Amino acid sequence: MSLLVIGTVALDSVKTPFGEAREVLGGSAAYFATAASYFTRVRLVAVVGRDFPEEHYRFLKSREIDLSGLQILEGKTFRWRGEYGFQLNEAHTLETQLNVLETFKPVLPPSYRKAEMVFLGNIDPVLQQEVLRQVERPKLVACDTMNFWIEGRRDELKRTLQKVDIVIINDGEARELAGEANLVKAARAIRSYGPRTLIIKRGEHGVLMFNDKTIFAAPAYPLETVFDPTGAGDSFAGGFMGRLTQTGDLGETGIRQAVIFGSVMASFNVESFSLDRLRRLTRPEIDDRYREFRRLTTVEDLREI
Ligand code: AMP
Repeated sequence: MSLLVIGTVALDSVKTPFGEAREVLGGSAAYFATAASYFTRVRLVAVVGRDFPEEHYRFLKSREIDLSGLQILEGKTFRWRGEYGFQLNEAHTLETQLNVLETFKPVLPPSYRKAEMVFLGNIDPVLQQEVLRQVERPKLVACDTMNFWIEGRRDELKRTLQKVDIVIINDGEARELAGEANLVKAARAIRSYGPRTLIIKRGEHGVLMFNDKTIFAAPAYPLETVFDPTGAGDSFAGGFMGRLTQTGDLGETGIRQAVIFGSVMASFNVESFSLDRLRRLTRPEIDDRYREFRRLTTVEDLREI
């Protein structure tokens, strides 16, 4: 199966209680594609400006990410500036510069149109729908969003939600989207907008997945060093969708395992600024942490894991 993502490729400036990074590689599609590239080949749809540094292309290519859907437009690359307090679960946006995103019209290369797995990453919901219209017959579509779009493009976002199978958002976004403080009630409301499955990311408290039949809870990996939470959600989604694409198992077990692989990728990502930790990750490290996740929650015989 093949995996397509639309989202942002950004230059991020981030401040956390532990340090600061300026104009580093970020964006929902960059994090997603890098995380997913450990499982499968990813076709990326995004836009950058002429100022996008050459070294970042080289890096994305080195992960064998297909960049034929990456447009380069006159103008500046999308920029995001954010800050975190000691409560690392929540980013405070200081500035969003849409730049080339304002005139971006995604056009899928013919080789992308047959993608079976599609991730509509955090970006304008109008662009999410434009991409979806160009994909011929996807097997599974997942999407993400954030407060910026929930507040600024609510109706369009609802239209995107009608067309997706899985929504992957954080707890604050779920509450805001549903207008409901209780997460179980918020999940019911969001699923009534269209998606069969809702995955709510709760930062250091892990993940809750709601579908027709069950609720599944996964913890976050108890890390000692959390440096920069930026991109945790997109790395989660990349690990999740990458794993589903790799195995093709879209049943309950396959999806639950993919939630854990998503959590594994998010846990690595937050250990360093930008994509620094994902850059030097190895597949055995991913598999080891997956086993540690299983040990973390099992109540069966530990020798079997
Ligand atoms: P997250 O996984 O939620 O931490 O996503 C972080 C990434 O989202 C950063 O690298 C930002 O560049 C990107 N981002 C921030 N604001 C927006 C926005 N309004 N639309 C799309 N991407 C954004």
